[in-house]
Amino acid sequence: MAVQPKHNLSMDSASETGFLHFYFSMPDKPETTVRIFDRSDYYTVHGKDAIFAAKEVFKTNGVIKNLGSGSRRLESVVLSKMNFESFVRDLLLVRQYRVEVYKNKAGSKSSKDHDWQIAYKASPGNLTQFEEVLFGSGGGPGESAAGVVGIRLGTGADGQRVVGVGYVDGTLRKLGVCEFPDNDQFSNLEALLVQIGPKECVLPGGDVAGDAGKLRQVVQRGGLLLSDRKKTEFTTKDIVQDLNRLLKACKGESVSSAALPEMEKQIAMSCLAAVIKYLELLSDESNFGSFKMMAFDLSQYMRLDNAAVQALNLFQGSSEDPTGTHSLSGLLNKCRTPQGQRLVNQWLKQPLMDKNKIEERLDLVETFVEDSELRQICQEDLLRRFPDLNRLAKKFQRQSATLQDCYRVYQAVGQLSGLVQALERHTGNHQVLLNAVFISPLNDLISDFSKFQEMIETTLDMNQIEHHEFLVKPSFDPTLNELRENMDTLEKSMQASLNGAARELGLDAGKTVKLESNAQMGYYFRVTCKEEKSLRNNKKFTTLDVQKNGVRFTNSKLSSLNEEYSKNRAEYEEAQNAIVKEILGIAAGYVEPLQTLNDVVAQLDAVVSFALVSHAAPVPYVRPRVLEKGSGTLLLKGARHPCVEAQDDVAFIPNDVTFTRGDKMFHIITGPNMGGKSTYIRQVGVIVLMAQIGCFVPCDEAEVSVVDCILARVGAGDCQMKGVSTFMAEMLETAAILRSATEDSLIIIDELGRGTSTYDGFGLAWAISEYIATRLKSFCLFATHFHELTALAQQVPTVCNLHVTALTTDSTLTMLYRVKKGVCDQSFGIHVAELANFPKHVIASAREKALELEEFQDTSGAGDESMDVGPEVKRRCLEKQEGEKIIEAFLAKVKQLPIEEMSEEDVKAELGKMKAEVVAQNNGYINKILSCSANVKMASA
Ligand code: ATP
Repeated sequence: MAVQPKHNLSMDSASETGFLHFYFSMPDKPETTVRIFDRSDYYTVHGKDAIFAAKEVFKTNGVIKNLGSGSRRLESVVLSKMNFESFVRDLLLVRQYRVEVYKNKAGSKSSKDHDWQIAYKASPGNLTQFEEVLFGSGGGPGESAAGVVGIRLGTGADGQRVVGVGYVDGTLRKLGVCEFPDNDQFSNLEALLVQIGPKECVLPGGDVAGDAGKLRQVVQRGGLLLSDRKKTEFTTKDIVQDLNRLLKACKGESVSSAALPEMEKQIAMSCLAAVIKYLELLSDESNFGSFKMMAFDLSQYMRLDNAAVQALNLFQGSSEDPTGTHSLSGLLNKCRTPQGQRLVNQWLKQPLMDKNKIEERLDLVETFVEDSELRQICQEDLLRRFPDLNRLAKKFQRQSATLQDCYRVYQAVGQLSGLVQALERHTGNHQVLLNAVFISPLNDLISDFSKFQEMIETTLDMNQIEHHEFLVKPSFDPTLNELRENMDTLEKSMQASLNGAARELGLDAGKTVKLESNAQMGYYFRVTCKEEKSLRNNKKFTTLDVQKNGVRFTNSKLSSLNEEYSKNRAEYEEAQNAIVKEILGIAAGYVEPLQTLNDVVAQLDAVVSFALVSHAAPVPYVRPRVLEKGSGTLLLKGARHPCVEAQDDVAFIPNDVTFTRGDKMFHIITGPNMGGKSTYIRQVGVIVLMAQIGCFVPCDEAEVSVVDCILARVGAGDCQMKGVSTFMAEMLETAAILRSATEDSLIIIDELGRGTSTYDGFGLAWAISEYIATRLKSFCLFATHFHELTALAQQVPTVCNLHVTALTTDSTLTMLYRVKKGVCDQSFGIHVAELANFPKHVIASAREKALELEEFQDTSGAGDESMDVGPEVKRRCLEKQEGEKIIEAFLAKVKQLPIEEMSEEDVKAELGKMKAEVVAQNNGYINKILSCSANVKMASA
């Protein structure tokens, strides 16, 4: 629980009335926008925001005070600066809400409390104005860049439905447009949103019906914050002019946006225009000439749908693993810099398709896997010395950098020669590549920055930096010189006063009592808490504050010296202002090389991280052999799930998988609950993805054809709760989404139709499988509890049955997690029944029926080629449904038998009688169905 602020919301009645008047005249806002009022020393929130803040920040309603009364009663909560910062961080980074901060135009102390104005605002995709609050002067989070997309539907030249997307990434200073046709499920759009990972989306307001509504759902499914904007903002009217301002010109040329090839994409351009308006990019001059237009091509990267991102557990916070401890990002991202972390997260969303580029990344990773010394020195020492250069570049750009920021860049550049030397010492196979990707760009950067380094060395007072003071050298100006001398004298006097104080207190100067300084308080003395008693009752000293590391205090001498010193320091800063301005002006010219340095460091950090993880895994990963897309082969030997095997308590059992076009392309996996089916099929997806991002893979051997997309369908575990119609809708959607797959796609289907052993559920699962196996011919893994599905293997030659194994003894059931060819042993369900203490003779009779069932399965006929289920299967399912009803009644009767009081003979006789009755009441084939259903019931028992 946060500490409640000391401030009271005290206003005289005139200001209270003024404020209430202003507050109630404000336009409505969505609940995902929080309005905060900056009152100089503290902040306030009101109305629903106040109730929300009370709950989130203070965990109590006790902090809510009321302004006004009756219908104009306004709940209010006061936030200290610290409360404000943590609240804003939570709102923007965790909850993905919008924040608006208002300031009083007339100044905080004015009684005119109705003149408030929005001072700054932010949303998850646009944090620029809050960067200091959110990230301080250090680096930002390692998460991927924030960004905002605008999306609009239009009609292409040929009358086809076209999706237009415009995109702004304020962190990386990129603009993008993309236009593409899409199916009615917007699969391409979904994949694009996964690839670029924006935080926010603007849509033309009011469009909620039909396609537009569906599009909205796709955006929401991706977890983006939605903002509706006026339709009129989606116009290309001013876009040429706006882009001319925002885009960076090539050297010596002016920007002529009208000639950009992207201009042809008018629908996308109108979306970009809406995003530019939403972010108010044109109202901040530091944005001018700073953006790049990026070409975005959907086919450049592997497509991933949201379900695949979840099923493969790529990022923290997925529903599969909310804590994220076992996400792939958590596993692979061992980067030392924020820019490296951002890049790894980007790579995870953008697996490559170009074999050459994949090989290049693998070569780099291999370099660092093989050269342990280089890997270690980079990981443990060199990389961690680089700050978030991207954020510094942005500060340089906005000219909001400080001398300290310049010094941080100076320090980072100073590390480069050491880094180059370390890289040059490498003698492996990929020296040429290492040179092209890292060494030569770094050398170029060293020379690009040489003048910058010189400037910092000549202007910055290096002597003061050890005291954390960033000042211009006094020799630059006689006034500075004079002030510096004064300050040095004052420092000496303060040192002398420390000695005096130490004597007074009977402590050791510089040891048990120290003279220290910081930006807020200036100079003060400090003793550790242990020595605090010597201070007690000594009237000559004033305690400033008590902290964990001791008590800070002062005396009249020190405080007057300190005051004098602060005055001098302020004058010094004033006098150096002009010089600082000049330095920062020159520094602003280094934005471009700083960005380049950022990118080189990020890339190095990312490949070193992959190498580290590949090397340090419980069993080291291997380099996959990558085959061109279309090769139709996927061979994994001894494959493991990297995240599951990394868990402490798991001794992971590796398994193989083989896909060969025309031979084996569709694997149906059956087997007991908790037997490892999901893990097996997901690990294949994870391994293919890892290979295509250029990382080594958790296998003994791997041969991977580049796939164009990974699609996943994971039946929700709560299917039983959902109505059959929802289930049907889901299945139909699955069928539609799968239409976007090609023969080079990897499809992972898990638990489709669990708990829905209805004809519909099974029928659709069958139809979808058959469609994938015979039409799409994609790589597919299908984990299911529908044993009947295994019959597909007899109809389609490329379908192949696999099962997970378990070891059963009389009293135990041990999962072996070994994946074997063929259908799961049907008697397994019966074994579960045995473990659940079913009467022996019931089990014996079930075994008999199970045998009959196997015969029955072997007689399954050929199916229909169409999306429809084959007639034979239909018939079987109907039979099964009917049969189940009969068997349910039958089992209910069996349950009522007083078995304990009966002999085995009696039970047998009674069962025989009951069975005869049922058979007599039903059609001729019931006997067979009875055996089939009995077995299914047993298995699910
Ligand atoms: P269900 O049918 O109930 O969904 P399942 O067959 O899909 O189960 P999984 O969820 O894949 O089973 O696996 C269950 C647990 O077994 C996993 O959480 C994991 O800890 C363990 N496990 C799975 N595969 C292996 C393996 N190859 N080696 C060791 N442990 C494994």
